[in-house]
Amino acid sequence: MSPRAGQKSGRVFLVGAGPGAPDLITIRGADVLSRADVVIYDNLVSPELIRLAPARAELIYAGKRGGSQKIIEQSELNAMLIAHARKGRVVVRLKGGDPFIFGRGGEEAEALARARVEFEVVPGVTSAIAGPAFGGVPLTHREHGSFVAFVTGHEDESKGASAVPWDDLVAATRHGGTLVILMATARMRATLERILAAGLPAETPAVAVQWATTAAQKTVSATLASLADASAREGIGAPAVIVVGELAAMRESLKWVERTPLFGRTIVVTRARAAASEFATALRRLGAEVVEFPTIETAPPRSYAALDRAIKRLHSFDWIIFTSATGVESFIERMKSRGRDIRALGDASIAAIGPATASRLADYALQVAAVPDEYRAEEIIAAIGIRQIRGKRFLIPRAEVAREALPEILRERGAKEVIVAPAYRTIKPKGAQIARVRELMSAGSIDLVTFTSSSTVTNFCEMIGTSGKGIRAAAIGPITAATAQQREFEVIVQPREYTIEALTEAIREYFRFPRPSRGEG
Ligand code: SAH
Repeated sequence: MSPRAGQKSGRVFLVGAGPGAPDLITIRGADVLSRADVVIYDNLVSPELIRLAPARAELIYAGKRGGSQKIIEQSELNAMLIAHARKGRVVVRLKGGDPFIFGRGGEEAEALARARVEFEVVPGVTSAIAGPAFGGVPLTHREHGSFVAFVTGHEDESKGASAVPWDDLVAATRHGGTLVILMATARMRATLERILAAGLPAETPAVAVQWATTAAQKTVSATLASLADASAREGIGAPAVIVVGELAAMRESLKWVERTPLFGRTIVVTRARAAASEFATALRRLGAEVVEFPTIETAPPRSYAALDRAIKRLHSFDWIIFTSATGVESFIERMKSRGRDIRALGDASIAAIGPATASRLADYALQVAAVPDEYRAEEIIAAIGIRQIRGKRFLIPRAEVAREALPEILRERGAKEVIVAPAYRTIKPKGAQIARVRELMSAGSIDLVTFTSSSTVTNFCEMIGTSGKGIRAAAIGPITAATAQQREFEVIVQPREYTIEALTEAIREYFRFPRPSRGEG
């Protein structure tokens, strides 16, 4: 889809970002975003999604705040889309929900068509559908609902021409239908009164859903006559959708969001971005609001000299021990770039520090001879077999700075040679989310920060500029936990097994029956 060589023809994608939860974008939307040169996004778009754009992409915020105060005029925005596309760029116009539902996507497409700029529309999950779904309200039903109408609650009838035909809508709704009202909060009372006046019974069930699909979701269930008061009591504000109709009563038996194990919890994931997404997704599926805040990033080591020397004489090693999945990747990549392939490993046996490392080796069709039960130097020695050490040559391709325990023990046990070769190093990323995490921290709205290595702890504190005082943490293993405790985090979750799956499960367990924190008794 990128322009052919020498041909300057950009393209605009009007992409629906979905209703809020970042994993509710479509696969096509995510794909287009990952190839964007320019991303122009609105305020209802999740910051996690913006990060799917390549680092080189230009990011432009075009959001409207509070529905009225436009940051960028629509005409200016249209001109901007056209201008960027004419420079031959892939422009992604990322809009909340679906671009063609109350999102002015239609106007933007018209402008592009007039300017003869090529465009594509990538539909999104609209809040008009996700709101009711996450509120536990089916929009149609074989017996009780044969149509659904998406209506704006923003328009003031007294102002004339483009008004909503409430009388006709209500007449139809009385015969079995559902109304979904967007932009519903600013004029909520007036809108509901108008519907009442048009003749819908006061006791018709009505539900308001704010921040649907996010951890901040709030849902209020009432009747047409009482919803405005109930919403005011609960502090429902924008963005919210309202569902009016008999089917809204089904929420009572179908509400499910509030029952997910991590509902309403905000959890920070500090893993390196490349590794984080599976973990983040697992937590989101359990209902958590996940803030991805990578505190480590992988970079080439300062020098490849040791690794390159080892790669030249791979056949001479009896054992190669990998201590991380990243170590495996960096090692194989370096080998490839030196013109060697896995046959160069010869007869060397391979050990992996844990299941994730072993599984990455398996991706390269490499069989692992030893995986310890626990990530401790002593356990690795045991897994390799004590008799396999004396007189043997070992290669350990790993991070530039790492604990010395393993090489030392191997030497003590009589290894003939132990080569530690830096294959990568971990660095602190620039940290685009620092401001957001600080904000959440000072508002006291972070329930848990997760750490998957000691350096994620250290870097977190350095990036945010704080200790862990007053913050609850989950640590993947004992070493990470010790570092977190040194930094004054309250480590409340620590799985028995040092894997992401076990960590996820332990977090779920913890929040099922949260233990009182220290000091509260
Ligand atoms: N194109 C968007 C709608 C834009 S109009 C879509 O398809 O969803 C903005 C309105 O969308 C808000 O006033 C609110 O009514 C609704 N909205 C957007 N995100 C929402 C969310 N997470 N929860 C509830 N309502 C939401």
